[in-house]
Amino acid sequence: PAAHVTNFLRQIIEEDLRTNKWGGRVATRFPPEPNGYLHIGHAKSICINFGLARDYGGECHMRFDDTNPEKEEQEYVDSILESVRWLGFDWGEHLYYASDYFDKFYEFAEYLIRKGKAYVDSLSAEEIRDYRGTLTEPGRNSPYRDRSVEENLDLFRRMRAGEFPDGAHVLRLKIDMASPNINLRDPVIYRIRHVPHHRTGNKWCIYPLYDYAHCISDALERITHSICTMEFEDHRALYDWILDELAEVLPWHSRQYEFTRLNLLYTVLSKRKLIELVEGGHVDGWDDPRMPTLVGCRRRGFTPEGIRLFVERIGVSKQESWIDMTVLEDCIREDLNERALRRIAVLNPLKLVIVNYPQGQEETCSAPNHPQKPELGTRALPFSRELLIERDDFMEDPPKGYFRLSPGTEVRLRYAYLVKCVDVKKDAQGRVLEVHCTYDPQTKSGTPGAESRKVKGNIHWLSARHAVAAEVRLYDRLFSVPHPGAGGRDYREDLNPHSKRVIRAWVEPLAAAAQPEERFQFERHGYFVADLRDHAPGRPVFNRTVTLRDSWGN
Ligand code: ATP
Ligand code: MG
Ligand code: MG
Repeated sequence: PAAHVTNFLRQIIEEDLRTNKWGGRVATRFPPEPNGYLHIGHAKSICINFGLARDYGGECHMRFDDTNPEKEEQEYVDSILESVRWLGFDWGEHLYYASDYFDKFYEFAEYLIRKGKAYVDSLSAEEIRDYRGTLTEPGRNSPYRDRSVEENLDLFRRMRAGEFPDGAHVLRLKIDMASPNINLRDPVIYRIRHVPHHRTGNKWCIYPLYDYAHCISDALERITHSICTMEFEDHRALYDWILDELAEVLPWHSRQYEFTRLNLLYTVLSKRKLIELVEGGHVDGWDDPRMPTLVGCRRRGFTPEGIRLFVERIGVSKQESWIDMTVLEDCIREDLNERALRRIAVLNPLKLVIVNYPQGQEETCSAPNHPQKPELGTRALPFSRELLIERDDFMEDPPKGYFRLSPGTEVRLRYAYLVKCVDVKKDAQGRVLEVHCTYDPQTKSGTPGAESRKVKGNIHWLSARHAVAAEVRLYDRLFSVPHPGAGGRDYREDLNPHSKRVIRAWVEPLAAAAQPEERFQFERHGYFVADLRDHAPGRPVFNRTVTLRDSWGN
């Protein structure tokens, strides 16, 4: 823990360990509902929960909060597990499903009925809402609130047996319809839903609600610190009420703590909106590299290490805040700068012919795999008479201060020779087709005296014969404004029309031979990843992860 910046959660755990509050136990949980793919906001919760367990020698439970059968699917369960593993966390034997506790939830509900703390209500959903009151106005008791224990038990058992249609009755806790905390105004804890569940099939037709199921799941698993986002702050009283009332039959009382959720500018982090983007065809699926989903981040080329660094850097607090996308991008850059090998790609090619280089001759140039890490070795770049350079690296009429190639000037071809532009070939429209240069054979990089003549321009290139054509996808932010949908607009109106551009580019042979998911820095361009789905060695497809520098004017 000393290696980490402290935060209020660490302080609470350290204090609990000091006072031996939990007998030395530290148990957290990450409880997603399997109704969508995880996004970068969930990564914050994952890193916090698994990170605290790791740092204090405890355990973090991977728990599916799968008590709402309508929207839940096995596909989501599988993808969630894969994303948590991908982020670098391991739940060991601690994989749980709230649906495994359906019998327990039911048993405790009967216990609460017998205790006079729960009743079957037969008002409609709309009436219940109406009776609940508002922030300024107390609620009213349901006419069914004083049913006898026997009647409640009978009705609840028949609800379970499937005797009633959806919505006919609910089970509510009997707390206080006048409570200033609306969550305590006799919350509904069970409803009838004749819907099969992805794990329990048709066994149940009554399902518990989140507030009821969550605290019991925590207690059954002997969770110590149940960490959630601020929206649940007002639910904590209910969490504690339920566990207090169950103390005789379920003595463990986990404690709930809240932190602010991650709010990220230039994107949306709500499952509902993410589903709409996929279903509306605004993106190419859940793992579209522009999506803030973890599967999308992965395909974009973000690293688990970079995401973990990001969560560490934004910290944990109870203070509402908005994090700029730049913070995430910087963490990804920082991590990739360390680990990504350097390669050459020409994204917008212009042919350069070295007129004094012998026809048919070729040689290799040695280029470092990582300029700051000589231990990562070098690679051979094939060099020949005809090269590809970036169109941007040549200007016929350069403005002042342009140090790249132009007629009469000399630049260094990185890792190779100095060349001087002696001629330009154009088509009928005046578009430059080829640049002709002479090279100085005495200036090959790495040979004695090669650097004696200094030039300002240093450009990258590929041997035209050896370069491999690649599909390159240039991704940018999904939304063009920091707060998509602000001011009452539909957030979809703020989609960035330039968030994806597909080009045909050229890469060096070693990059073309990469395996899917290999990540590189294409020199002077940015970080790129061989696409997880579409790339194959020899048939390269690269996604731009992030440019070398922030281009969003920050
Ligand atoms: P959404 O609002 O996108 O539907 P959710 O909170 O309903 O998300 P869950 O599957 O219930 O999604 O989330 C699992 C855990 O991840 C919860 O503990 C939740 O608090 C946490 N979480 C979800 N979104 C964020 C976020 N943006 N920042 C931090 N934690 C989050
Ligand atoms: Mg939720
Ligand atoms: Mg939700």
